Amino acid sequence: MPLIRRILRQPRKVAAVQQDQDITFITPTAPVANETHGGRAKCLQRLVRLDLPVPKTVALSFDEVHRIASGESPDMAALMAPFSDQALLCVRPSSEDPDWGGPGAILNIGINDARYIDLCDQLGRDAATAMYRRFVQSYAIHVARLDPDMFDHIAQDDPDSLTETLRAYEEETEEEFPQDPAVQLLEVLRSMARAWEGTTARLLRQAKGAPADAGLGLVVQEMAHGMGQGECGSGVIQLVNSKTGDRKITGRYLSQSQGRDALAQQSAALFLERDPRGPSLQELAPEAFDQLIEHTRLMRIRLREEMQAEFTIENGRLHILDGVRVARNAHAAIRIAVSLAEDGIIPREEALTRVDPRAINELLHRQVDPDAPRDRLASGIAASPGAASGKIVFSAAEAQASAAHGEACVLVRRETSPEDIRGMHAAAAVLTERGGMTSHAAVIGRGMGLPCVVGASALKVHLRRKVITAPDGRELRAGDIITIDGTNGDILAGEPPLMKAAQDDAFQTLMIWADEFRDIGVRANADTPADAQTARNFKAQGIGLCRTEHMFFEGDRLTVMREMIFADTSQDRAAALERLLPMQRADFIELFRIMQGQPVCIRLFDPPLHEFLPHDRAGHRELAEALDLPLSDVTRRVEALTEYNPMLGMRGVRLGITVPEIYDMQARAIFEATIEASREGEPVVPEIMIPLVSAKREVELVKTRVDAVAAAVRNEKGRDFTYRLGVMVETPRAALRAGEIAPHVSFLSFGTNDLTQMTYGLSRDDAGRFMSTYVQQGVFPEDPFHDLDTDGVGELLQIGAERGRAVRPDLVLSICGEHGGSPESIAFCRDAGFNYVSCSPFRVPVARLAAAQLAVKDRITIKKP
Ligand code: PEP
Ligand code: MG
Repeated sequence: MPLIRRILRQPRKVAAVQQDQDITFITPTAPVANETHGGRAKCLQRLVRLDLPVPKTVALSFDEVHRIASGESPDMAALMAPFSDQALLCVRPSSEDPDWGGPGAILNIGINDARYIDLCDQLGRDAATAMYRRFVQSYAIHVARLDPDMFDHIAQDDPDSLTETLRAYEEETEEEFPQDPAVQLLEVLRSMARAWEGTTARLLRQAKGAPADAGLGLVVQEMAHGMGQGECGSGVIQLVNSKTGDRKITGRYLSQSQGRDALAQQSAALFLERDPRGPSLQELAPEAFDQLIEHTRLMRIRLREEMQAEFTIENGRLHILDGVRVARNAHAAIRIAVSLAEDGIIPREEALTRVDPRAINELLHRQVDPDAPRDRLASGIAASPGAASGKIVFSAAEAQASAAHGEACVLVRRETSPEDIRGMHAAAAVLTERGGMTSHAAVIGRGMGLPCVVGASALKVHLRRKVITAPDGRELRAGDIITIDGTNGDILAGEPPLMKAAQDDAFQTLMIWADEFRDIGVRANADTPADAQTARNFKAQGIGLCRTEHMFFEGDRLTVMREMIFADTSQDRAAALERLLPMQRADFIELFRIMQGQPVCIRLFDPPLHEFLPHDRAGHRELAEALDLPLSDVTRRVEALTEYNPMLGMRGVRLGITVPEIYDMQARAIFEATIEASREGEPVVPEIMIPLVSAKREVELVKTRVDAVAAAVRNEKGRDFTYRLGVMVETPRAALRAGEIAPHVSFLSFGTNDLTQMTYGLSRDDAGRFMSTYVQQGVFPEDPFHDLDTDGVGELLQIGAERGRAVRPDLVLSICGEHGGSPESIAFCRDAGFNYVSCSPFRVPVARLAAAQLAVKDRITIKKP
């Protein structure tokens, strides 16, 4: 080796470094903090405090690293003072949250021609060569930014591989490979600091929730070599399985290796614990193995977290280089949190805060295996979580036919309407080209727990040709298999492996703890007995919204409903309603039975009538046949019901006042069902909710009629019952005039879907078209149908709540729009003094946990001075 240079000697400044805030030698008492030096540095200090065999480490603060990125040089003498002249060093990133990532570790800094010769004597030529070669390559790629392929031609077992590697470096850079360890270290630090400040890295970590100005710390650690004489090697250990959270010693060890090589080359690596599949560290180095287990257990107890340790064995001696939180999916996160609490390591309330409520979706729905390759066709709005694969069908009828053959299908529509309900029930997933978070497909999909992506406008759906064209030109036809990932909005070609939904005992335990702590109610939006059963299974405290109109789309009711709509006289209408009455009554009896005395809030009929009518000529013809009417009559009636702006037209209470017989029938069905269900079980106190109110007089009119029906039913049946009447606040005016509405009702429930639509003047069915542009350009911070707009819509909620409670302090307040299940909205409603939130049944566990976390956080804040 011709290149031998002098090693720079540094003056010693260890004592100064110990107390320096920016370049800090990690001792048990050194000033190191997560917020200033990052999680890795802080964790290493904790390991040092536990007296674990951690090699000497210096932590660089966020400020110091930022200065390095801007071109300043740190005090290299001080930085290198704690290390011996012979030490090789490694540098690792230390961000505040490990999930925000950071540049990869660089090992063996300080190796040069002179050290190489010493190391050949000390560790053997092969080990020294591998170490020097590794450093030159990482330096070339990460510091000199050379193409990683440039070393591909050099075989690792070639005796000249090091010379070749150095030659390749020097030819490419036209410079000698730096020999001064201080220069090497400075350049490594600079490249890592700058990599963190690059735009791509910033965007990536911002996507994971990091603030724009998140800092990076760096830790410089003396290498424990893992290569050389005696038993040397490196590995990684954790005491649980990352996918299940079950207790299992997991990891690998590779002799004569460094860093995370053991994981990269699993086939050559040893198991840790004795294992029938192959040799293990336990057999090879039992003493080191025992120590390793002991240290990792201690880390779990004292760091109060399931940790993964990176370790090195150097001539039989164990070193713990690093500890990081065990990576985990939601399933494992719950089991880990519960078992830490059950072992008395953390209190229950802390276990509750350790699980991201949204991650619970992973347990409630099947998911695409995160390790599987994804062939993405396009993406849209992730409207209902979970994943499912199936053959493409383009109509509800085809979906039903497919289900009848036992074949999974994905229903693809431009957008869905109530007519598609049966098709949606039959499908494994739904995809729509249009729509947003609160459009029909999204609301129904979430209610049913059906994976759904809406607003996938990058896909072109040709319904007539039965073809979907993806943005890359690929065409998919009816019968082709696709996968809908409703958790992240992807539409995937083919059928990637899915992970099963699983709610195990740990999940149940965590939910029980959540209910012990939470102080806001959680109900479910449930329209059908199946929804109600799901709501009960997820321990909802009642139904907060039963959208009764969905019941009219079931089975043969649609025809009767259409007869009612087409009735020319009040008598004909009464006759049709008479036939609908027993069906509604049966629905309500079933709901009351399933809910076993828990409150059930039934919303009176809401949609415009034309939603129940067919929209195409074939449908008109069928209807004419069914009702025995001339086709022209049907067409004329359908046209007469058509509105320019149906969402702002004859719907909700407006229909209830104009065609009062519908609400009369519904009220009667509710009261008769109340009497019936109370006969067998707990007494039922139904709640009746009036939709789309904007004026006090509307409430007075409906209340008078509902009271009259109640009196009539009491008389006829000779049985008493109570009920509560409430208003759904969905128009800005209802929120503003809550003070005059409240005296007439016992509750207000905020329907934030319509309220958002009307506050913004933004169609909930069409917003998907421009929402992503709006969010990208920062017009809206998020889709307001997805995240409650706490500024505008939220202000209306607050005004409504305050004005309502001012005249009626016992007024029950709730939210039942889709926002009801989101942790941020729950926080808002809780702060505003709401009694409960109501959300899709599958979001109930998410809401229970989110609500518990808020209560726990408040307790902690109150406890702190
Ligand atoms: C709402 O508007 O918030 C609501 C819950 O009602 P729907 O979604 O049925 O209009
Ligand atoms: Mg509404």
